[in-house]
Amino acid sequence: MKKETKAIHSGQGIDASSSAINFPIYMSTTFERHVDGTYPNEHVYSRYSNPNRLALERCLADLEGGIACACFSSGSAAMMTLLQTLVPGDHVIAPDIIYFGLSELMKKVFAPLGIEFDFVDMSDIENVKTHMKSNTKLVIAETPSNPQITLTDIKAVAAITNETDALLVVDNTIATPVFQSPLELGADMVIHATTKYIAGHSDVLGGAIITANEHDRWEKIGYIQRMGGAVPSPFECWLALRGVQTMTHRVRAMEASALVLAKQLSEHASVAEVLYPGLESNPSHALAKKQMTGYGALMSFLVKGDATTAIAVTNKLKLITRATSFGGTHSLIEHRASIEAEGSLTPKNLLRFSVGLEHVDDLMEDLLQALG
Ligand SMILES: *Cc1c(COP(=O)(O)O)cnc(C)c1O
Repeated sequence: MKKETKAIHSGQGIDASSSAINFPIYMSTTFERHVDGTYPNEHVYSRYSNPNRLALERCLADLEGGIACACFSSGSAAMMTLLQTLVPGDHVIAPDIIYFGLSELMKKVFAPLGIEFDFVDMSDIENVKTHMKSNTKLVIAETPSNPQITLTDIKAVAAITNETDALLVVDNTIATPVFQSPLELGADMVIHATTKYIAGHSDVLGGAIITANEHDRWEKIGYIQRMGGAVPSPFECWLALRGVQTMTHRVRAMEASALVLAKQLSEHASVAEVLYPGLESNPSHALAKKQMTGYGALMSFLVKGDATTAIAVTNKLKLITRATSFGGTHSLIEHRASIEAEGSLTPKNLLRFSVGLEHVDDLMEDLLQALG
């Protein structure tokens, strides 16, 4: 089955008790036990599993071509669970350009517990090679990365990790399962903030980890999910599943607009640079063509000037909303440096632009009047 079809049918199906074509919301924390002590429908207690989470997990596992998925209450909770599988003395290689909330978790929560991190520029594979150690357990890549939209060659990193005990985990939030299939390229696991393009309507937080294979670390992820309980509610799973049904079409429409807008922005006198792999001038353009089937709908651009000039542009916009996050129907713009932590590598004149589903002409008109 193609992804368009999987997004609508995987894990779902007609409800047996009502014939409803949409999967019902099962708001129950607990499930009746049979007289012989078994649980006729597998479910015991909603933290362990529930019908809505299972449906979402099956759908996302299918979309990423994995064998299983575990869903969480946010993308950060998914990453936290992955890191909680480590023990003191374990080593992790992570990107130097990464969603800043995740590097904060690594630096402020997990490093003090004795987990070792190296943050490296993964656009150069040599950096991954030279930082691999005998205690490296995870290599985490985020491609495209947030917010500088740099790319990592997944196949090349997988070739390195496959020679070792380390697992390669790719954050596929920005690419989406529509434009990139990291497991096919050799990654061991994929991580998502379903908050963004998968749920797609800026109305629900969520996270997911999908695995290509069974292994001890996957077992431990499932154990921590069930015992730790950083899980989404049945309603949140239902919203994400409702959102994912239209994901393939949403992201393609957004990408079509992003390509037009990136090109026009790159020719604008007030713009110093557009960071978007769909532009032929982008250093990652060739790699994007090789490992992705589209360029996505998230870009950043550098306004000529400083932070004040960049913020002034966002203040003049009338349609594009100043807000964090991305992947929803509304176009959003954000001055990233002022929300990220001390030591962020984000240029002060960078604006991250999430292209939504509004008409591309209206978006361009708004950008042009704001840029002057
Ligand atoms: C937003 C984001 C996350 C974190 O997800 P939350 O749901 O906000 O916790 C992780 N990775 C990337 C690439 C993100 O953009």
